[in-house]
Amino acid sequence: MRRCIGCMTSKEKHELIRIACYEGRITLDESGRAKGRGAYLCRHSKSCWEKAYKKKALERSLGTTIDEEQKRELFAQLEQQDER
Ligand SMILES: [Zn+2]
Repeated sequence: MRRCIGCMTSKEKHELIRIACYEGRITLDESGRAKGRGAYLCRHSKSCWEKAYKKKALERSLGTTIDEEQKRELFAQLEQQDER
């Protein structure tokens, strides 16, 4: 069980998606095994993604700052995986 940093609910791993931060780069970690620090978000809950970003939970969990460009990129990736 992992906890979503948006809604703070513990869920099974397959219901969550891992965001990895490695060398200052934020990526959607679809394999769940990417290098670096990781944070989890509900895979299909846009409100969680937004909450995590607005509360800076994503930044806190990953120990980094996230600029607008990285945020847009991450959200685009989240939306893509959400459609599958
Ligand atoms: Zn959530």
